Amino acid sequence: MSDKKTMSFQTEIKQLLNLMIHSLYSDKEIFLRELVSNASDAIDKLRFEQVSKPELNKGEELAVKVSFDKDAKLITIEDNGIGMNYDEVIENIGTIAKSGTKAFLDKLSGDEKKDANLIGQFGVGFYSAFIVADKVDLITLKAGETTSKAVRWISDGTGEFSIEHTDKLDGSGTKITLHLKDGNDELLSDWGLRSIIRKYSDHINYPIKMQKMPEHDKDGKEIISLDLETVNKANALWARSKNDVTDEEYKEFYKHISHDYSDPIKWVHARVEGAQEYTQLLYIPSKAPFDLYDANRRYGIKLYVKRVFIMDDAEKLLPNYLRFVRGVIDSQDLPLNVSREILQSSRDIDAIRSGSTKKVLIMLEDIVKNTPEDYAKIWEEFGPVIKEGIIEDHANKERIAKLCRFASTHNDNAAKTVSLDDYVSRMKDGQDKIYFITAESYNAAKNSPHLEIFKQKCIEVLLLTDRVDEWVSSHLNEFEKKSLVSVAKGKLDLGELDDAKPTEEEQKQQEEQAKPILEKIKSALAGKVKEVVVTTRLVDSPACLVVDNNAMSLQLERLMRQAGQEMPSMQPTLEINLKHKLLNKLESSIDETVTNDLALVIFEQAQLAEGIQLDDPVGFIRRMNTLIA
Ligand code: ADP
Ligand code: MG
Repeated sequence: MSDKKTMSFQTEIKQLLNLMIHSLYSDKEIFLRELVSNASDAIDKLRFEQVSKPELNKGEELAVKVSFDKDAKLITIEDNGIGMNYDEVIENIGTIAKSGTKAFLDKLSGDEKKDANLIGQFGVGFYSAFIVADKVDLITLKAGETTSKAVRWISDGTGEFSIEHTDKLDGSGTKITLHLKDGNDELLSDWGLRSIIRKYSDHINYPIKMQKMPEHDKDGKEIISLDLETVNKANALWARSKNDVTDEEYKEFYKHISHDYSDPIKWVHARVEGAQEYTQLLYIPSKAPFDLYDANRRYGIKLYVKRVFIMDDAEKLLPNYLRFVRGVIDSQDLPLNVSREILQSSRDIDAIRSGSTKKVLIMLEDIVKNTPEDYAKIWEEFGPVIKEGIIEDHANKERIAKLCRFASTHNDNAAKTVSLDDYVSRMKDGQDKIYFITAESYNAAKNSPHLEIFKQKCIEVLLLTDRVDEWVSSHLNEFEKKSLVSVAKGKLDLGELDDAKPTEEEQKQQEEQAKPILEKIKSALAGKVKEVVVTTRLVDSPACLVVDNNAMSLQLERLMRQAGQEMPSMQPTLEINLKHKLLNKLESSIDETVTNDLALVIFEQAQLAEGIQLDDPVGFIRRMNTLIA
């Protein structure tokens, strides 16, 4: 008796399906790549299960079969892999469990061209079947289950699917029958399908089989054979020698393992021998995946042991800051029953991880040297992630620092970045420090009052505006023996660069002179600032805020507050510019209310310049208005 049920797709899937069908039609043959890719993944998983459950090994050859029926307009893709049970079918192809789906869909613009690019980042997968089919009929039996536990799933891709238990007599695995829409006749041919398979799926590890092509006898009569033949190369691409793999093959293999739709920027393929023997094939994608910052993201490395698939998303094989790298690592030495727990604390894995990290860093360094325009793209996509390496990877800190790029006062826009090496090469005679400022945005950094003296003296300052920069700069105290110094912290000491430095005598005199005004301001701002001093860094602005060298920067304090952290309010030092008109006004004021208002406004302006939210914005406006009027 049938237990057939009709269910509705998640709303998100309807949206995705619609988008996919319309935006990918010109690339419709990729449906086969996606379904073959899934079949191959399913066989990988079965092979892995067989290691601990030998009874799952029925002795048959693991393969993907592709066939077609021209008259009925059907294409069938069949595998004898792991299969799915009832719940898995619903979960895997009725819902989108991928984290970040909603955020992804929010990014869609409705512009087909742009969205087609985005959908590539998301991965098209199983649903690409509906680019060419108006009905998909899937029958699947999970390995180890009795034949009557098979599941049949049918959908026309518009909003609903039906699901029921059924029998599958030819063993475990999945069989997908596509009922083609009109206008796809070119797909229904021996040559058509073979060429698509060779183009996109040649690298699949397992044989992809099709019925032999009909031959003709000497009278021209067609002889049809029921025998199957293998259409692809059917060996592990990474196990082949580099010289035997074309760029196209590398690219298609990348798409298979990464579930990405666009070409990678670069890859490295190497066999490592020594204490650990393994093969690595590591790719740098051209686009950041939609879940790069998602805590539940997928990781990029597939782990194999002696060509047997062990796991996807092996997060221990590369450090976190290289999580955008995709690829395969195939170990000769790890045990086949290696688990995620073992990976957590395995010396062998540590060796592979540090070897692979080096490989990626070398690859990035090569790109910097040989194709800087590619590096610019990589930096734009993954820069903030690579920077995390300065915090995470102590051993490679200096190398990662060299790979980092920053906006700088040397250039006039945020897109032009500089390296620390560039900076050092431009350092002025007598300059012994690398100066930087952290701020919320490029404009906030560029126009910060803290830069005034640096602009006047033509000293370059790096403008750090990524969220992660606060943490990065606190971990990078030195580069090539030059200390990195925030221009918003501590007492400004330009050392030899300060040609107009007053003598000690002059300084004492100035301080003595300034005492009354400093006292006035201090009492007006009691409890708000730690100290009020005469500045050496301002030229045009009346005042700015500075924190101690080892204190948390005002930026970081702001970020922590935004993140919901309770923070004791730090009292910064207020530095004032005695040459500024507002200060002159304050100095000569004899009305206490006016003096206090002026002091407060000067302080609040300095807070605003730091991107700090004012305690009493309305009070600020009132004070400003009184002053203006
Ligand atoms: P992805 O391959 O990126 O996970 P897909 O949309 O291609 O996304 O497939 C979704 C899921 O459906 C797969 O992760 C897998 O669990 C399941 N699946 C698809 N095809 C098969 C198959 N032939 N055999 C077993 N499971 C499959
Ligand atoms: Mg897939």
